[in-house]
Amino acid sequence: MHCDAVKSRVCGTGCHKNLATSIRTSIIKLPGSDGSRSDAADTYCESWRLAVETNNAGAWDVLPSSCVDSVARYFNGDQYGSDYYVIVDYALAFAKTVKISGDGKDVWIFDIDETLLTNIGYYRAHGYGSEPFDSKSFNEWVVQGTAPAFAASLRMYNALKKLGFTIILLTGRDEDQRSFTEANLRDVGYSGWERLILRGPDDQGKSATNYKLEQRSKLIDQGFKIHGNTGDQWSDLLGFAVADRSFKVPNPMHYIP
Ligand SMILES: [Mg+2]
Repeated sequence: MHCDAVKSRVCGTGCHKNLATSIRTSIIKLPGSDGSRSDAADTYCESWRLAVETNNAGAWDVLPSSCVDSVARYFNGDQYGSDYYVIVDYALAFAKTVKISGDGKDVWIFDIDETLLTNIGYYRAHGYGSEPFDSKSFNEWVVQGTAPAFAASLRMYNALKKLGFTIILLTGRDEDQRSFTEANLRDVGYSGWERLILRGPDDQGKSATNYKLEQRSKLIDQGFKIHGNTGDQWSDLLGFAVADRSFKVPNPMHYIP
């Protein structure tokens, strides 16, 4: 008996059985969907990383233990640096289209940690984000002031200055870390920022999203135009008073709400 999707609506039980078989054989199975996830860990972890970077994963807690090796290879291989360079190239291409007014109000905002500075040395010693975030040990790392710059970020930072942008740094670090942070930034080559905004006493307890959107709103109230914003967290970029273009740099190690 001939049977296709249209005819199956009117033919007998045997036809439906044939159609069901045909549909089953047309479905592409995802790696690991048959329970053999350990064999497909790399593929799954790449998909997980994409979901995180696009914010499809939403809020997440710690890096899945099955993905630690995959994320370690990502950071220690060429892909992480390459991803950064591509994003920077797109950001600079956009920046070159912005008409700079010359009044000092044309702003580009940068986050600091995992955006201008890399703390991979810290995270390498703490399971690449598979351990719950420990603010005490991270702050002990911060005060050492030894975080290297991302080469791509430094290139972008200097290019934006040359184009005439006013650079504003907006970080979740606390105000009492100002001197260590400034010294670290200068030591690795950053200079000439207009402002460095850190969490003050009134910002404690606020989500990063709320703290940062409030600070961006203040800048707009002061007449600044926020053309670009670069951060490794969606909380650096979302909310209101958003930049004309936001550029998310990769970070599959932690999620900050
Ligand atoms: Mg950051």
